[in-house]
Amino acid sequence: MTREEIENIVAMQKDFFLTGETLDVSYRLDSLKNLYTNIQVMQNEICEALYKDLGKSSTEAYMSEVGMVLSEIRYMIKHIKKFAKEKRVKTPIAQFCAKSFVKPSPYGVVLILSPWNYPFLLTMQPLVDAISAGNTVICRSSEHSPNVTRVMDKLIRRTFRKEHVYDVLGGVEESTMLLEQKVDYIFFTGSTRVGKIVLEKASENFVPVTLEMGGKSPCIVDKTADLKLAAKRIVFGKFLNCGQTCVAPDYLYCDESIKDELLKEVKRQVVLQYGLDPIDNELYGKMVNKKSYDLSMRHLKEDNILFGGRHDEERLKIEPTIIQANFDDLCMKEEIFGPILPVVTFSELDEAINFINANDAPLALYIFSSSKENEQKVIRNCKFGGGCINDTIMQIATHEMGFGGIGKSGMGAYHGKVGFDTFTHYKSIVDKKTWIDLPIRYQPYNSKKDKMIKMFMK
Ligand code: NAD
Repeated sequence: MTREEIENIVAMQKDFFLTGETLDVSYRLDSLKNLYTNIQVMQNEICEALYKDLGKSSTEAYMSEVGMVLSEIRYMIKHIKKFAKEKRVKTPIAQFCAKSFVKPSPYGVVLILSPWNYPFLLTMQPLVDAISAGNTVICRSSEHSPNVTRVMDKLIRRTFRKEHVYDVLGGVEESTMLLEQKVDYIFFTGSTRVGKIVLEKASENFVPVTLEMGGKSPCIVDKTADLKLAAKRIVFGKFLNCGQTCVAPDYLYCDESIKDELLKEVKRQVVLQYGLDPIDNELYGKMVNKKSYDLSMRHLKEDNILFGGRHDEERLKIEPTIIQANFDDLCMKEEIFGPILPVVTFSELDEAINFINANDAPLALYIFSSSKENEQKVIRNCKFGGGCINDTIMQIATHEMGFGGIGKSGMGAYHGKVGFDTFTHYKSIVDKKTWIDLPIRYQPYNSKKDKMIKMFMK
């Protein structure tokens, strides 16, 4: 796509936004309902594309992508009228006589840049939040999940007028040109490296951004934890989508006294959930491409594999693998985006807290424990985006809480009401009555006015 074509798309959406059509809540509701219907109609096509790009089984594709988008649409359809209403607030007595209200207003043209690992969910969910709030959207989904990108493009063209939602196909070149446009909001999901580029570009035009990035999300298991249950839930969260999940437990950080028992349970769970030969299990995902495959394979050494380690380069498959790690190993320094789970240990919980806080704040943190004191200590003292007590990744599957990181793992959040708020500017308005005009704030001042001002402002 040429620069001129991209400029035309942005201009077309700006013009459309200014017509005010998207301010009408019924327009937004109709768009959401159309999208819902078309996703249902195209559901098999979407799941097939997810299988081609990532080897996702249809159950996993529905559970972690399609179903979550449909659920977000239902939530917005149910709540949008309430969210979009002006909200009356109290007016200070010093402003007599006036009423005050907050008016939810869309930003305008939103740019959504999304990654390949949950390509449908991470494009569609912010899109749903953005159009619910009354914006127009230009999206650019990842070039590394081409089948899903193609199907989404078809879905978007079938559902929306292009001045409302437009899908820009292409690669980094198109993303770069889009970032140079003066849009009204940028929503980015991807790596911290590209997040920095997005933030720099956005700062040139003072465009507000949400950055949803990654990091090393620890999974702490203390000696009071129910190890069988912990293992089951850790294996679920880690090996879903072949470990290519931004909120997956990145590394296992356990009390050294329970390490052997925990690993025994984790291995048992891998076999129970994925079978004795996960590489040939059609319901277990694959690495998205050779580059990702190679990045994960770098962490496997002859002497560090505790379990698993078999792989098939041709099919881009790596089986669920547990490795022994040292804190200065590469696998403890960079985000692992594959089915490799390093294990490190602590002898006191404070060691774990200190280690986590000495590094970049992660997107997620998980603590498995049956000690309320330990749970609270970790939740209170560590800096991280969000997480679970005695579970993994489930913090993202709710409309009632926002999802987002902190520091290098992200800024801003979305999902449900928080998502609506992200794409909404709240105008604060004072509606001053004209039948009275108290003179005390106007010059010239005197001691009487001075006294009254102090009295009113108490
Ligand atoms: P990425 O940063 O390489 O790409 C994300 C998007 O940015 C893609 O659309 C890509 O086309 C675009 N892009 C790439 N290079 C660019 C450049 N130089 N200029 C402008 N745009 C560019 O990320 P990825 O490899 O697709 O995804 C993996 C990363 O995403 C991991 O770090 C993971 O933790 C993170 N992630 C975060 C979340 C979250 O919700 N916080 C979700 C999924 C993935």
